[in-house]
Parts: sequence; structure tokens; C-alpha cells
Amino acid sequence: MKRGKWPWLKFKILKWILGWLGISLSVFFAYNYYHNQKQRFQNKMNLKAERAISRIDSTFKIYETIITQTQAFFITTQEINNKNFYNYYNNLKDISRFYGIKGLGFTRYVPNEKLEDFLKEIRKEIPDFEVWPLNDDEDYFPVIYLAPESFRTIGYNQGSENKRKEAIERAIKSAETIMTGKINFVLEKGTTSTDPGFIFFRPLYKDETSPSKKNLIGIIFVPFLYQDFFIDGLVEYFGEDFYFKIFVGDDSSPENIIHDTLGDKKDKKNGEFEFKKHMRIFGQDFYLYFYPRSENIEFLRTSFLLLTLGLSFTFLVLKFINDTLKRAEQSSINEYYLQESLKARDEFISLASHELKTPLTSLKLRAQLAIRKLQNNHLTSEKIKDFSTEIVKQVDRLERLVNDILDISRIRTGNLSLQPERFNFSQLVEDLINRMGPQFSTENDPKLIITNPEINVYWDKLRIEQVITNLLTNAIKYGENSPITVQVVEENSDVLIKVKDEGRGIDQNFRETIFNRFERAGISPNEVSGLGLGLYITYQIVTGHSGKIWVQSELGKGSTFHIKLPKNPIF
Ligand code: ADP
Repeated sequence: MKRGKWPWLKFKILKWILGWLGISLSVFFAYNYYHNQKQRFQNKMNLKAERAISRIDSTFKIYETIITQTQAFFITTQEINNKNFYNYYNNLKDISRFYGIKGLGFTRYVPNEKLEDFLKEIRKEIPDFEVWPLNDDEDYFPVIYLAPESFRTIGYNQGSENKRKEAIERAIKSAETIMTGKINFVLEKGTTSTDPGFIFFRPLYKDETSPSKKNLIGIIFVPFLYQDFFIDGLVEYFGEDFYFKIFVGDDSSPENIIHDTLGDKKDKKNGEFEFKKHMRIFGQDFYLYFYPRSENIEFLRTSFLLLTLGLSFTFLVLKFINDTLKRAEQSSINEYYLQESLKARDEFISLASHELKTPLTSLKLRAQLAIRKLQNNHLTSEKIKDFSTEIVKQVDRLERLVNDILDISRIRTGNLSLQPERFNFSQLVEDLINRMGPQFSTENDPKLIITNPEINVYWDKLRIEQVITNLLTNAIKYGENSPITVQVVEENSDVLIKVKDEGRGIDQNFRETIFNRFERAGISPNEVSGLGLGLYITYQIVTGHSGKIWVQSELGKGSTFHIKLPKNPIF
């Protein structure tokens, strides 16, 4: 296989390089596209968010004008009373411009010790006027005018509620318009509106040049509902681009949320694209969160699509290369095996011819010699016996070779059929050794150890005989004339056969492969003749009898072949 491996390795490396290149390029382009689009998108959205904020800011500024206008009215009017206040309110021409304004009112500043005087004075104008809720020890900020007249909060002490009081104090100190935090409007005694809003406070002094509490007359105030304000100011103009979430004061608590168009919408997950902006209007902090609507984040999907397309294309190309490589590699392997088997066939033909030629040459020589002796009248009956014995020996050898070749083809086609019969195996081994007698020398004449002279088996007699013959022939061929021992041991339902010689032994690298076809374990035909088929056929016969064969050997010290066979295998 070594031959076929390297060129394919080159293509495989190329395939992986292409694969990695494809994946990297897909990721690179998709990410680049995503990154650029994200940048562009964020810039665009940021710009829009800034515009939204400046729009709110300028709207607030416009709204403040109504307060400064009212302040001017208070300053320029000598005496303000119920009547001219409502006249003023009703004559405000462009109040409709100030969408979201809920009303316009005035709160008097009443120091604690002046409460009685104030009540006396105001009741001349509003007979049943009362300050509510009333705390004994504080200054009071009761509402005395509030338009439209439908509001029922005249007399409500704005100083009694923390957020209002805190904003009023700040307004007095700064002499500026100040906005309260999130409040719920008082509708009448004991009832408040559920819609949150805020109030603008603007202090009015007796002398505007010295703004202090001593100098304070009261506070002009304008209530708003957040809902009206933000829907008009933001959602209408930017609602297509964003969902909004707006906090007043700080953004740490859900209580401070004054507007939320996001709610539980799925788009919340686009938190990655959230824009947070802070703004401070009339002393009040606002935190605005802008969440782009998912339809505006198309580029996310496009980048993903790009990545998927890139990767799919890469994998398709890889698969194509892979399949082509596999096919090419397979046909190269097939080609390699074809060449190898052709080579093996050629080697076998040359080996077999050599093996067959040796006995044929010997036969021809004997025959020629016999003819010559006959012509010279030297052919004695003694000589005829010698020639015939030699001829029989060479014909036996030829027969064995031809049989081995026939067996190989039988094994290949699955036709090595076994014909089992009952016989005494001990007897068979003894007869066989006797028959092979002439092949042994005095040094290697086998020593036979048999534990039981009668071992009954159900095997293919001729094939088993072939197995023992093969092992004994090998012991003669490779045993270097060393002593041979054959041992037959009965072991329960098995029979163990050992054939031992003390010859050349087998190199460790070949101890397993000698049972393969044509394996000669590095021995050349000139050294010892053979086709490398005997052990292969032996192995097939043994396994055909459900048995096992293995070898123990040490180079230069000899080999012992072991066979273990069940006495009655199932065929
Ligand atoms: P062959 O004898 O025709 O070569 P075998 O299949 O009988 O074929 O044996 C395969 C190889 O195993 C031999 O070529 C030889 O190298 C080795 N071998 C077999 N028997 C022995 C043995 N008893 N001692 C050493 N080597 C052996």
C-alpha cells in the first residue's frame, strides 16, 4: 500500500487547505459584513436617538414659554383674582399648541403664622376655601387658582407631598422653572389619578430682583401627563425605528419608568443594540433607552445567510473533492492490487515451473540412462529396480505438487470438501510414519509418543493424513537432519498433535504468515524446494475440522507445530 499512499496524501492536504480557506473566508466575509453594517446601523440609530432627545429638549423649552408668559401676566397685573386669572387662561390663544398640558394654576405661599390672615382674606373671594391636608408646623402652598375650572383641587396644599415640596423648594432657591419627579395628580380630596405625570413650578416674587422665600408670593404651576407628552414627542416621530423605555430620576427601579413601548415584546433580545441616553430638563434627570425594531436589524440575518451560504458552498466543494479523491484512490488501489496479483501469478508460474521441472529432468535422465544401459547390455534386474524406485519417487513428488496446486484452486473456489469417517488416529500416524520410512535418515527417524494406541476420531482420513505428511515433510526439509518427535495426546474431547524438529527454526516475523499462501519465510527455491502451499493447505484442513494450528519456534533451535482438533467436529 505504501506505493499508493503518498500522491493521495498530497491531495488530501490540498483538500484540507481548501476546506480551511473556504471556512475562513466565509467567516471573514460574513463577520466583516456584519461588523460594517453594525457600525453603519449604530451610527444611524445613534443619530436618530440624538435627534429624538433634542426634539424633546426643544419641546420642553417651548412648553416653558407658557409659564414665563403667565409669570409676565402676574407681574404686570396689579391685582390678581379669581376672575382675571380665568379670563387670562381662557384668552390664552395658542394653548392648543401645547398638547399634553393639563392645566394652569397658581399656588400661594402661606407661612405657618400667616395662615389665619390668609384664610380671612381668601374667603372674601372664595367663601368656603380650606387648606388641605393641613400640618400644624409647616408653611403652606395651597392651590388658589386652577384652570380649567373643572379641577377640584382648590385648597390642596402642594407642600404636603414630598416630590412637589422638594421641587418647590428647589424652584424657590433657583428662581427658575423646575420640574417635579414622577407624580400622580390629586383629582379631589383623597383621590389621585392613576396616570403619572409631572408639574412645572415657577416661583413668583414680590420683587423679581431679589428671589427669596421672604419675598415669595407663590408658585405658578403647569401639570402634564407623561403619556401625552412622550407619545406626541417620541413615538410619533421615531416609533418606526425604536421601542422606548424612559426612566425619570434614575434608571435603577421599575417604579421610575414613565414610558415603555417595549413591554414584553420579543425584540427585547436586541439588547445588544440598545442605546442609552441621559438628559436633564428643568432640574430633572431622564434616562432614555432606545431599542431598534427587529425589522431594522436585517443585516444580522443577511450576515448569517452569507455565513451559511459560504459554509454550505465550502462543504459542497469539499464533498465533491472528497468523492473524487475517494474514487481515484479506490481505482488506484484496485490497479495496485491488480498489478500485485499479476506479479504474484507470474512469480508462482515461474516457481511452479521450476518445481515441476526438477522431477521431470530427473525422470528424463533416469530414462536416458536406462536406454543407454539397455543398448550396452548393462541393464541388470538390480539396476531396473533402482531406476523404477527413483521413477516412482519423482512421480510421487510430481503428484504431490500437482495435488497442492489443485487443492489451492479447490480452496479458492470453496470446493475443498471434507468426507469424514470413523478411524483410529493413533494407528493412522503409526502407519504413515512406517510408509514414509525411506524418506527418513537414521538421525531424523521420528520418535513417536502416543498416550493411547486407540484414539477414535471422526475426520476426513485422507486430508488428516495430508496434514501429518505436510508437517513431517517440512520437519525433514527444514529440520537439517535433526531428531524429529511426533506426539499424540488425547485431551478430553480433543486430540493434541505435536511435530517437533531441532532444525533451522522460523524467524519471528514469519511465525504467523507462514500459514499464508505462497509464503516461504524468506527461503529461496534453490535453498529448499517448495511452493509455499503446504502450511496454507494444512491450515485450511485443520480449520475445516474446527481445529487450531500454531507454531512455537526459535531461530536456529527448531520448531514445534501444534494442532488441536476436536475428536468429533460438526461438519
Ligand atoms: P514450502 O515448504 O513448500 O515452502 P510450506 O507452506 O509447507 O511451504 O511452508 C512454508 C514455509 O514455512 C517454508 O518455506 C519454511 O520457510 C517455513 N517452514 C515450514 N516448516 C518449517 C519447519 N519445520 N522449520 C522451519 N521452517 C519451516
